[in-house]
Amino acid sequence: ILSELDTLRDKPPETKDGYLVPITANIELLEELEAVGARGAKGIGLFRTEFLFLGVKTLPDEDAQAAAYERAAKSQYPSPVVIRTLDLGADKLPAGFEAKDELNPFLGDRAIRLCLSHPELFKTQLRAILRASVHENIRMMYPMVSCVQEVMDANTLLRQCMMELSERKIPFNENIQIGTMIEVPSAALVADIIAPHVSFFSLGTNDLIQYTMAVDRGNENVAHLYKPTHMAIVRLIDHVVKVSHKYGLWTCVCGQMAANPKLVPLLIGLGVDELSVSPSQAPMIKDVVRKLYYSGAVELAQQALVSRSAEHVDALCHKLIEEIA
Ligand code: PEP
Ligand code: MG
Repeated sequence: ILSELDTLRDKPPETKDGYLVPITANIELLEELEAVGARGAKGIGLFRTEFLFLGVKTLPDEDAQAAAYERAAKSQYPSPVVIRTLDLGADKLPAGFEAKDELNPFLGDRAIRLCLSHPELFKTQLRAILRASVHENIRMMYPMVSCVQEVMDANTLLRQCMMELSERKIPFNENIQIGTMIEVPSAALVADIIAPHVSFFSLGTNDLIQYTMAVDRGNENVAHLYKPTHMAIVRLIDHVVKVSHKYGLWTCVCGQMAANPKLVPLLIGLGVDELSVSPSQAPMIKDVVRKLYYSGAVELAQQALVSRSAEHVDALCHKLIEEIA
């Protein structure tokens, strides 16, 4: 079956009625770059840069990071490469990094919070990303944003970094597109307040579901409560997409929901503009897009939005995927 799906590699991710849904890749390591194009994804929707910091003895400095981001940019050019700034903390702590003694590290000083509380660590990464942005396909986004102030503070540091590079006469793209992950319910609910400060949203549904439902995404004891089709999630995604379009932004989904064939029509019907999945999942997702009618996806989403249970949304999604299989 895989070789059959591999023949999809060079075909566009387009529905039967001609609606294009770009499929990009989630990567953690540079070694995965080659698989992106080989599996028919175009560009990178999520580069989890914290993995450059994990499992190494010395943390990568500005030069080493810039080289890594440049390599990603060149490998995909002209397709976009979205570099996510460090999502460190909680379970992802580099060697030699002092963890704070926190009772709830997943609700603690992590991701954008940790970056803002360690400005030198953060600014080193921002300068490295800016340096790589001479390749104009580089974009950047912040993880685990929970309020607009974090975006504003990060953007302030970014502007400082731009000035520092200018003083060093190092070129960068002044108009680099900045986005934010929407993976904390509070950010989803104030998406309209965040929108003027960014160019795009990326829905991290793994964390969005975890934090909306108060269900640890890795805890088997409560796995039955982890429901991507819970009406709270359907409504939050719908809200974020609508807000993004109202403000002229686009919205990608880079959480696992985008890699679930059954849920792809729902996401497309809700207006999601891009799906980012691991390279190995790209052929399967492209296959679904190419068998789908956009009009059918919109109808599904409209029915889902007036549903009253995850089970009903599941049934609707199941019916559609059976029909197009
Ligand atoms: C997510 O939360 O959905 C996401 C894409 O980020 P990560 O899985 O790296 O937390
Ligand atoms: Mg996340």
